[in-house]
Amino acid sequence: MQIRLLCVFSILFAAIFSVAQTAPSSSSPPSEFPKQIPSFDLTAIDKTVDPCVDFYQYACGNWMKNNPIPADKSRWGRFNELAEYNLYVLRDILDQAQAPGEHTAIQQKVGDYYAACMDEPAIEKRGTAPLESKMNEIAAIKSKQDLIVQIGAMHRDGIPALFTFGQMPDMRDSRQTIANLDQGGITLPDRDYYLKDDAKSAETRQRYLEHVQKMFELAGDKPEVAASEAKTVLAVETGLAKASMDRTARRDPKNRDHMMQATEVVTLAPNFELTQYFAGSGAPKFATLNVTNPDFFKAVNEQLNSIPLDDWKIYLRWRTLDSRAPVLPKMFVDEDFQFNGAFMSGQKEIEPRWKRCVQSTDHNLGMALGELYVDKTFGQEGKERTLNMVQAIEAAMYQDVGQLTWMSDTTKQKAYEKLSTIVNNIGYPDKWRDYSTVIVKREDYAGNVTRASAFEVQRQRNKIEKPTDKKDWGMTPPTVNANYRSNMNDINFPAGILQPPFYGKNMDDAVNYGGIGVVIGHELTHGFDDQGRKFDADGNLKDWWTTDDAKAFEDRATCTADEYSSFVAVKDDKGEVKLNGRLTLGENTADNGGLKLAYIALMDVVGKTPVKPIDGYTPPQRFFLAYGQIWCENVTDQQARKLAIIDPHSPGQWRTNGAVQNSAAFQQAFGCKAGQPMVRENACRVW
Ligand SMILES: [Zn+2]
Repeated sequence: MQIRLLCVFSILFAAIFSVAQTAPSSSSPPSEFPKQIPSFDLTAIDKTVDPCVDFYQYACGNWMKNNPIPADKSRWGRFNELAEYNLYVLRDILDQAQAPGEHTAIQQKVGDYYAACMDEPAIEKRGTAPLESKMNEIAAIKSKQDLIVQIGAMHRDGIPALFTFGQMPDMRDSRQTIANLDQGGITLPDRDYYLKDDAKSAETRQRYLEHVQKMFELAGDKPEVAASEAKTVLAVETGLAKASMDRTARRDPKNRDHMMQATEVVTLAPNFELTQYFAGSGAPKFATLNVTNPDFFKAVNEQLNSIPLDDWKIYLRWRTLDSRAPVLPKMFVDEDFQFNGAFMSGQKEIEPRWKRCVQSTDHNLGMALGELYVDKTFGQEGKERTLNMVQAIEAAMYQDVGQLTWMSDTTKQKAYEKLSTIVNNIGYPDKWRDYSTVIVKREDYAGNVTRASAFEVQRQRNKIEKPTDKKDWGMTPPTVNANYRSNMNDINFPAGILQPPFYGKNMDDAVNYGGIGVVIGHELTHGFDDQGRKFDADGNLKDWWTTDDAKAFEDRATCTADEYSSFVAVKDDKGEVKLNGRLTLGENTADNGGLKLAYIALMDVVGKTPVKPIDGYTPPQRFFLAYGQIWCENVTDQQARKLAIIDPHSPGQWRTNGAVQNSAAFQQAFGCKAGQPMVRENACRVW
């Protein structure tokens, strides 16, 4: 399923590491609660800069100066500030849940999970025991068939290897969920890292080899053996990278749309032994499925023959070790951090144990923790307030579409139809997930992670060949993010984002429309960006555009792609990297559209009654400042370099300046003149 995220970090709750700290107690983490975050921050503004020359610097200059990246982060922006705040709220909940006393079943479960994660002496004592059964199974592999059986077992425990198998709504009939096979199996964040021959990519591969070697040594292998194993891992993964479709090509749904008979894919790639894999997958029987990238399976089918079985076994040992590093003793966790955190992201220190344990609980039991979070923080009135704004922004989109000169009435009618059927999910799901079958033991962190991962894999596989469950949420309630799902045609706003700096109960409309209003407009626009426009009101891949309108859209989108391709993402001693305007096209379209829609909605509210300036700023100025300020951030060069390759979102500087350059309303609000940098000569406008 295609998920489109508003925000800057899609892997917030993905990684869990480990560091020495004392056993759990409600008083163990000493850090103080962070301050409440202001919605509109006058002290962030750098008045030495002309807003028409560099609006991002104007809105955020002092914030950037006064908010250096904390040692345990590689990126620090307003999203991170709020996510950090939420971590403290969640820690309070978990500290209470793990303390002795009367607890509900949910409190008991998340409390035990968190306590097991915090119990480092127990984790040190167990050493590599949690790896043993998997490593023994891999050692016992004697044939290609055994290999696939073992990969199937790893997948069921949530350990990625070779390819992925899961579910998705049928692209042509989203009411039905089907099985899906996809490429996979590489460890580095993108195929580019294996294939590009510039100096920085070569350095990364060298450091990766050293890291893999070190991890094998920690697992007990001799240095010379481990060094050779690392080379094998890199060679196997390079083969998988070569067979993989690149990120930009994957944005086009047509490139991912390959319905097949199960028997066809078995024949296409016989060495994968897929009949056996499917039978052991825990999925219901199916006759047809989608194969996202058939070429991957064709190419890797050859590699399964040409690469010796012993090399595949080394690869599987590596994937197990890499995936389970966070539940192992400190020496594994530290080495994992040295490569992924320090080298790849420029992070100085690992996050304290408690933060990683809160994130791990959110990742593995997130809808249980989320239920407790919502009870404590959100409530029904939060849902209603947000819904009112969503309706106002939807009304703005009707107005906006109606005024478009490049779109025919025929296509407009279809656009209205799609707009009117978008489902709004706000705060938290209607029905909470039932984790009662997940066994959580207070003395077995590694086992808890495996059992919770296996539960989630099976839960997803149970959806295959069933009506699509449109009520199932992907994001947990404390998540600071929002998304649009093209197959579901829905927009989702978890409770975690519905607070300052995005939404302040006591803030004026201009500030709230510039914050959460733009977020809402951004998600709505995703239904009509370069990917979203290819799905209809029912979430089906269906062309509802006239030929001329489609061409007009593509011409306008190309303007946006070219604009952002000219922006520099990072420039350091390793060279300059520009943004990939095609990779970031959907997000940039959504930023520009969201800004436009929220402004129209704001004018409907404040236009009727004259509003005096507050703090010296008119409502339009406050609106654009609030928008700019949600993107204030500092990022390490290493992280900026990585994000330029993998992130479909532009960095904060360009989310701000890229969008306002195209906005006549912005230029009017600040009195900008033609020829100034924030007035683009040929402004791009899709929506
Ligand atoms: Zn987005």
